[in-house]
Formats: sequence, structure tokens, C-alpha cells
Amino acid sequence: MSVILPNLPAASVRVSEIVNKLPEREQIESAAALHGTPVMLLDCDVIRSQYRALRQALPEAAAHFALKPLPHPAVVKTLLQEGANFDLATNGEVDLVRAAGVSGKRTIHTHPIKRDSDIRHALEYGCTVFVIDNFNELEKFSKYRDQAELLIRLSFRNADAYSDLSKKFGCSPDGALELIQQAYQLGIRIKGLSFHVGSQTADPQKYVTAIQTCGDVFRRVSELGLPKLSTLDIGGGFPVHYIDKVMSIGEFCVPIRQALAEFPESVDVISEPGRFIVAPAIISVASVMGQAERDGKTWYYLDDGLYGSYSGMIYDHAVYPVEALHTEGELYPSVLAGPTCDSIDVISEDIMLPKLKNGDLVIGRMMGAYTAASASEFNFFPKAKIVVLNEPSDLL
Ligand SMILES: *Cc1c(COP(=O)(O)O)cnc(C)c1O
Repeated sequence: MSVILPNLPAASVRVSEIVNKLPEREQIESAAALHGTPVMLLDCDVIRSQYRALRQALPEAAAHFALKPLPHPAVVKTLLQEGANFDLATNGEVDLVRAAGVSGKRTIHTHPIKRDSDIRHALEYGCTVFVIDNFNELEKFSKYRDQAELLIRLSFRNADAYSDLSKKFGCSPDGALELIQQAYQLGIRIKGLSFHVGSQTADPQKYVTAIQTCGDVFRRVSELGLPKLSTLDIGGGFPVHYIDKVMSIGEFCVPIRQALAEFPESVDVISEPGRFIVAPAIISVASVMGQAERDGKTWYYLDDGLYGSYSGMIYDHAVYPVEALHTEGELYPSVLAGPTCDSIDVISEDIMLPKLKNGDLVIGRMMGAYTAASASEFNFFPKAKIVVLNEPSDLL
């Protein structure tokens, strides 16, 4: 079966053991020399340590990795070996995890709006838990009532997040109760509630409020004598350190754990981390294509930019730590631009850099989440190739 990965670079390569052990700067130089630029270095060891850090910080919540920020087979295989579960939203994501050998039982489907063909595609794979937030969607499950169980997504708005994921999706607590009653009448099983407090949420109180509101809905469901809810899905949103410092994941999860302690032990708690697992795992590498002096600054034109790996600056509102690979020498106010003919394609208007020659390398850190996933080949500039470091062997 062929897997279609519409948003991924055409080529993705794994490197030899020798390259895995090189110091970072030499890894970057050898990847650029071997594969050309733009190139991204995806380090599976970082995926492992992020997953373990989150599991340790929040042991009560089984983590379902949300594929959306970096739908890459090496990430899926690494996390599968770590014992993770997976959060899917589209047929492409279903195909990717299936090809990586993930059992459907380890997955949930969390797109609140699905076509009948999407539901069937996931069910045929073996994924049986779906998310809904409205009656139109609930009715679609009447004919699958024997196979599927549902989570109802609540909305909690968050203007401070990089991406507020409750504007487009989610219902109110009263709306959830109404859906639960309607589902009962239709004979459709409701497993529990879910929410997403917004991606890159810096304040854990957002989770606490959402968890407490869900607690109220759980209680009202029992008071009404409806079948008890068994699952609370606290979504993704866990923050990482780009430029502005964020709490460590351990500290971040303390109030979340306290809020979860109010739920009976019989309730299964799950999470859907995306960004936290993958953001620190990629360093992007671009080369200087040319340069010009404009208004007292040196403009460097790179072979990667806002239409490529840096697309998250537009879609995700992220700002990445960017630097020259070789930082020796005096620094000058500079501009870093992408390769396309569009003037919006500027990575940084004001960055201090040493004098760079054409061909010199510029790296972006923390570029694993919402970068390659939303890159395009506008103007025919190819997307960065992904080079995989410390990839798991296929022998499980
Ligand atoms: C995008 C998304 C996630 C992942 O969110 P992060 O902020 O990257 O952790 C999880 N669940 C759903 C439903 C999503 O849409």
C-alpha cells in the first residue's frame, strides 16, 4: 500500500551511526554537504526525551501524540516503541500510522467534523473513538452505534495561545449535556469529554478551569441518571521554549494534576500532545544564496523561508531562535529573507549576524512543530529534505 504524505518533503533519509555520534555542528555541516540545503535534522532521541518528560510530569494521562504538527513516519515509529498512543484527524494520518504498524486500538480520531467516508476509513483501520461537538455530527454515528464511541469536545477560548483551538470547534457545557441526552436516545455511546485549551498555552490555569468545568458536566450526567462518562481528554497545548521562557513541563503539570485528582480513579485521563513532543526535535539548515546592502543593513537571502520550513511564522505565529552556524566575528544588524519573490517572505527584519559569505549556513532551532507540515513549494523552491538522526530500527 502506498502512503500519501502530501505535506512532507519528497525525500527523507536516515543517516549512518557515525553521523549520529558527531557533535551538532559537524552533523549540520555533513548533512548540508551530503544532502544540500534546505535540510532539516530530525533527532529521534529528542522525541524520546520529550515523550518521557511529559509522561513523567503527567503520569495519570496516557499521551496520544497528535500527528498534525509533524506527520513523519520516524516520529511515529519512535513513539510507538516508547509505548505512545496516537491522535488522528485525517485519512492521511490514518494511513501513516497504519503503515508504521500502529494498532487501531492505540488511536483516537479527534477531528470534530468528518465525512461519512472519513468515519468509515478510520473504522476499517480499527480506530473506534471519535470526537463530535454538534448534533449534525452525532447523527452521522447512528449507523455506527455498535462500533464507535464518542468524546464530546468542549470549547474554552484562549486569546493568549499561538493558536486558539476553541474558536472553530467545541460546544458549551450545556450543549454537551444536550448532546449526551440526544446520544442516549439514539443509542450512541458517549465515552467522555475532550477539549483543547489552545496550542502553546503558557498558563496551566487554562487546563485547570477546563478540567473543573468538565468535572461539573461529569456530575450532571450522573445526576440525570445517564450512563457514566469514563474518559477525560485534556488535549494538547503543552508549551515549549522558543524565545520567551516557559515553565518546565514538571512545574506546568502540577496544577493540572491537582485538578485531575478531583476525578474518581475509574476515569481514564488522556492527553493529545503535539508541539511539545516534536518542536525541539528539528534543526533547520538553510544556505545564503545572495546578499545586498539596503538601508544600512545587510540582507541575506536564504534558500528557505516563510513559504518553506518557516511557514509556522505565518500559520502558527511562532518565532524561532535563528543563528548563523559559525558565530565568530563582529556582529552587524542584518535581515534574513527567504528565497521567493514575495516581500512578505522575510524571516527576521532585525537580527545581529556576523558577516556571512554566500553558501554559509543559517540554522533555526525548535523547528519540529508546524513547520515542514505546512511548508509549500511556492515559486518552485523545494521543501527542505528531512534527515533522520537516531531513528529506531525497524526490528521492534
Ligand atoms: C493540533 C491538535 C493537537 C495538538 O496540539 P499541540 O498544541 O500541538 O499540542 C491536539 N489535539 C487536537 C484536536 C488538535 O487539533
